[in-house]
Amino acid sequence: MTPELITSIAALRARLLPIRRSGQTIGLVPTMGALHLGHRRLIEGARRDNDAVVVTIFVNPTQFDRKDDLERYPRTLTDDMAVCGEQHVDFVFAPDSAEMYPSEQLTWVDVPALTEHLCGPSRPGHFRGVATVVMKLFQIAQADRAYFGEKDAQQLAVIRRMVRDLNMSIEIVAIPTVRESDGLALSSRNQRLTAAERNIAVTLSQALFTAGKAVQNGERSAGTIRTSVLPIFHTHPEVRLEYFSIVDVETLTPVETIATPVLIAGAMYVGTTRLIDNVLAAPPSG
Ligand code: AMP
Repeated sequence: MTPELITSIAALRARLLPIRRSGQTIGLVPTMGALHLGHRRLIEGARRDNDAVVVTIFVNPTQFDRKDDLERYPRTLTDDMAVCGEQHVDFVFAPDSAEMYPSEQLTWVDVPALTEHLCGPSRPGHFRGVATVVMKLFQIAQADRAYFGEKDAQQLAVIRRMVRDLNMSIEIVAIPTVRESDGLALSSRNQRLTAAERNIAVTLSQALFTAGKAVQNGERSAGTIRTSVLPIFHTHPEVRLEYFSIVDVETLTPVETIATPVLIAGAMYVGTTRLIDNVLAAPPSG
């Protein structure tokens, strides 16, 4: 079944209104397209839990801090429609920028306390752009549930907090990170990697898994873990590590002594491609 492709906000609202009025539930899956298995898992969750499924495909300009990154972002709507058909999606909402931002955006959603660390410092305005566009999509679709990947842990934390702080009645459902067999997290950006870069890209997940095991085995010093893991990033000249941090799962602030569950997250460039990944780890109890 081919999903219905909708490009205007008014048309999406008109299609969803009778569904909502009849008491049926709506699941929303916000994406930027170039859909892969990770996105499919989100859609599967939405399909399982809801009567109607809306996938949004919008390469949101306000969350890109680099113009070249925005321009180079893959756009594959025909393939994405086929994926959505296979996953039994009802509606694909793929607006253009003029539809989403018809006039200068003067109202923004910002969660600064959760964006001081990890990707925040290197991507000024990124999470403000994400939170704002997600808020707009939530307002447009009025869905019952929305599905986000744990792969983008900081994004997930920001959106959960936005929903809580602004008393929004949508349920946020988190889906575990989908990985290649060697551990590399699936990402639309992986398409840009050369074969050689692809092999090196696995370094990030390897380092995260090693650090996660150390936490589980009872190492309590974040500094010790970082010191033991960081050399792995120096083995390839193509790799430029942006950060490798051990943070509190709630506040996303760095911890020194690990006593509660932590998020271990990293970002690195392989050549010109920026990759992020994370794992959750809990110290042994007792
Ligand atoms: P994107 O299209 O990259 O903006 O991602 C759209 C949604 O898919 C976000 O909620 C991401 O966290 C999620 N996602 C991306 N990659 C993965 C993955 N490998 N596993 C699970 N979810 C993912």
